[in-house]
Amino acid sequence: MIKFTIITLFREAIEPYLKTSMMWKATEKGLAEFDFVDLREFGLGPHKSVDDTPYGGGDGMLLRCEPVFAAIESVKAKEPTAKVILPTPAGATWNQKTARELAGDAHYIILCPHYEGYDERILTLVDYKVSLGHYVLTGGELPALIIIDSITRLIPGVLGGEQSAEIESFSDGDNIEYPQYTKPSDFRGMKVPDVLLSGNHGEIAKWRESHTKKAE
Ligand code: SAM
Repeated sequence: MIKFTIITLFREAIEPYLKTSMMWKATEKGLAEFDFVDLREFGLGPHKSVDDTPYGGGDGMLLRCEPVFAAIESVKAKEPTAKVILPTPAGATWNQKTARELAGDAHYIILCPHYEGYDERILTLVDYKVSLGHYVLTGGELPALIIIDSITRLIPGVLGGEQSAEIESFSDGDNIEYPQYTKPSDFRGMKVPDVLLSGNHGEIAKWRESHTKKAE
């Protein structure tokens, strides 16, 4: 069983996706569990404030240490071995190899910063810093979903065909899966390669092998 606890101010941005398609199936099959911690509950003062302005000046608001530490500690009190994942442009770029390494019997806490980011001291709690690439998103919610989805679909039993994850793109380094086609065999003059209609499994395997590419 893999478990993700998502610490966020915007549960509503994340939850519908986890109740859809393969993520929903994973929970229905008892292979994955997703739950949420509302960071606001750990906010300070009457307004439950979770952020403040940066020392040294600058635009935007940063997540403060106190609510984040309290939220993470509340999860760790029940699950001391849970590992913390932080989506951040300063992290290592996410890839299939890392997703595979993390896909197992484990509990991950994903912290979703928002606004201008987070107080640097929060990094002392973090096990994995993950970047989605060289662009800036509004918050950690989309990265959290991408991290959860890419890990959870690799848990044995989540995908229908057990081979699905073994032969798809990035299953072997930077390979990109061969082109695939379905019915009709001729759509507006665009024909499916004859070999795929031949029933000759050896030739089909050769064709697929020769049409597997490297990622750009
Ligand atoms: N001020 C930050 C900077 O310049 O690096 C950007 C903050 S961004 C608006 C708010 C949060 O979204 C980040 O702290 C991070 O959690 C998440 N985020 C944005 N872009 C990301 C990316 N490329 N990969 C992972 N997380 C990202």
